[in-house]
Amino acid sequence: MRYHSLVIVDVHAHVFPPEVRDNREEYLQRDAGFRELYADAKARIATADELLASMEAAGVDRSVACGFGWSDAELCRRHSDYLMETAAKSGGRLIPFCTVQPSDDGTRDELKRCAARGARGLGELRPQQQGYGLIDSEEADLLAWASDAYDLPLLFHASEPVGHVYPGKAGLPLEQLGRFIADFPGVTVIAAHWGGGLPFYALMPEVREGISRTYFDTAATGFLYSPDVYARVIELVGAEQILFGSDFPLISQERALQEFAEATVALDDEARRLILGENARRLLRLPDG
Ligand SMILES: [Zn+2]
Repeated sequence: MRYHSLVIVDVHAHVFPPEVRDNREEYLQRDAGFRELYADAKARIATADELLASMEAAGVDRSVACGFGWSDAELCRRHSDYLMETAAKSGGRLIPFCTVQPSDDGTRDELKRCAARGARGLGELRPQQQGYGLIDSEEADLLAWASDAYDLPLLFHASEPVGHVYPGKAGLPLEQLGRFIADFPGVTVIAAHWGGGLPFYALMPEVREGISRTYFDTAATGFLYSPDVYARVIELVGAEQILFGSDFPLISQERALQEFAEATVALDDEARRLILGENARRLLRLPDG
């Protein structure tokens, strides 16, 4: 299904430099987190050109191009360079979210460099796989500082503490996500995959208050939740805090939009418009259309 009259923004797509795709085996050896997600030869690795082709085919106007949370700071730097270079050539269609290793001594300068070169956010961050925590840590302080100083929303992978296991599930335990949001209420967080279920705790008044500025993306919904997750989370936090994300190329953008259409058929048009693009457009200050 197409929504020609709407702006469609996918806030959660992954792209890798061709160098990584072409030398996958080498990178599988180099990084345990990458190995967990991409050791399976069926796990697709897409380049920026492939993402642009997918957007064209699916009718997606803009996509946040995310990096990968490498353990090695140099790999993060090279990946961020690719994201910023390809986004700069995309005519605004790709929005670069850079990737950093906050435990590295040079990361403060790296964050400054990324912000100056056009980064629009950081992510998808996977603290657990990169070896740091978000509770009372220097890494948490650094990320919060950079987000605030350079106006960079933080896109965190978030994991459900229950349910089935899947490659890459570990990334950020719900407890740590909740603490980070409580400790840094001024920082804009996009909690991926419905925030690992955090919105359901909005039934606790202090949590509802604490997550009033947090966004939840819909990446990989079809693998995680039944379709009524949309209606339930809208009841709990409102459509204004939900962002459409596909998790491309794990799920094709076309399929993610199809699933969205089917899951939201009973919702009002305004909720669909907000989730599909308007919330992201406001958050990332994107032009109309
Ligand atoms: Zn994720």
